[in-house]
Amino acid sequence: MQTELIRIQDLHASMPHIVRAAEVIRSGGLVVFPTETVYGLGGDGTNAEAAKKIYAAKGRPSDNPLIIHVATPEDAARYTCAEPAAYALYLRLAKAFMPGPLTVILPRQDNIPLSTTGGLDTVAVRCPSHPVAHALIEAAGVPIAAPSANLSGKPSPTSANHVATDLDGRVDMILDGGECDIGLESTIVKIDVAEDGEAYLTLLRPGGITCDALSCVCDRVEVAPAVSEQLGKDERPLSPGMKYRHYAPSAPLVLLRGEDADVLAFLQEQQATSACAILCYDEEVAELRPEGLLPVGGRADLSTQAHRLFARLREADGMNAVELIYAHLPDKSGLGLALYNRMIRAAAHTVLSIGTGGIPEE
Ligand code: AMP
Ligand code: MG
Repeated sequence: MQTELIRIQDLHASMPHIVRAAEVIRSGGLVVFPTETVYGLGGDGTNAEAAKKIYAAKGRPSDNPLIIHVATPEDAARYTCAEPAAYALYLRLAKAFMPGPLTVILPRQDNIPLSTTGGLDTVAVRCPSHPVAHALIEAAGVPIAAPSANLSGKPSPTSANHVATDLDGRVDMILDGGECDIGLESTIVKIDVAEDGEAYLTLLRPGGITCDALSCVCDRVEVAPAVSEQLGKDERPLSPGMKYRHYAPSAPLVLLRGEDADVLAFLQEQQATSACAILCYDEEVAELRPEGLLPVGGRADLSTQAHRLFARLREADGMNAVELIYAHLPDKSGLGLALYNRMIRAAAHTVLSIGTGGIPEE
């Protein structure tokens, strides 16, 4: 398949391309488009065959459901059938965070086929804020089912270059809208109604909308164990995607926990004795050798760290002769929980405590 790459600089001037891309979606084809989180690999969310094509293009297991993207938050009512209390909470979330990086899970209507939802009776809905994504969904007139536009097992793409590396020849079109702002996938919450009739949230995947922000809208926010813990072999996560290793770099990724000075001394020693890549804080650049160094942002600048993480992991993977990749174990507060969740899975939960004898954690 020939993949057409279209650079969108001015949305107004590019409308003819967007309209053509929308026709590709409506006729069952695949279009990659930019969002504020990561690039999405889109197909018609109401078309079972399009969903199958998405799974095939990504090499994704078909029990890992897709998120449907809608043009306005209210469009969710056309594809979901929530109880009144659940829908009222959805509307409160929509008012606070949509359009934006929040995905909400609600019971599905029959117009969303089971192949889109990985066989589940619920569907994940998101209303992206990126102008290109919005224009494409509106022009398509159907909800766009879209997982991240990477090959399964690779980091999510935050630039059209990443997408082309993974999917050239596997999709009809790629709309290049530049680098994604946030750089990590959306926050996912499920709405349920408790026995007392109150609707509550379960956080299934942390992202740009933090737990604290969700707590301002809903008193009860539970965190699914798979967000930060390693599940047992036979445990089933609430979000099927959480059971898959998100990304496995070719060299093992090791996360370091400890006092700044101890971790820095450890990294200096490693650089002197081995070929390693290091995802370091900007403040550490002057203290380390340049070879293999991949600055992720200032120590306290979690937004920049989120923005750069996946691109840096791809760069680390592209480096020759690297035996190990080191990175700091993020703090779990605020946006740090999303960084922690992505990195701990990329590292297959390998954490090394420095300054305490270097004993690997369980
Ligand atoms: P991606 O599209 O690559 O960002 O991944 C989508 C994530 O949403 C996966 O981790 C899925 O498991 C999760 N997801 C999508 N739909 C549902 C659903 N109906 N219930 C629970 N999790 C879902
Ligand atoms: Mg993904």
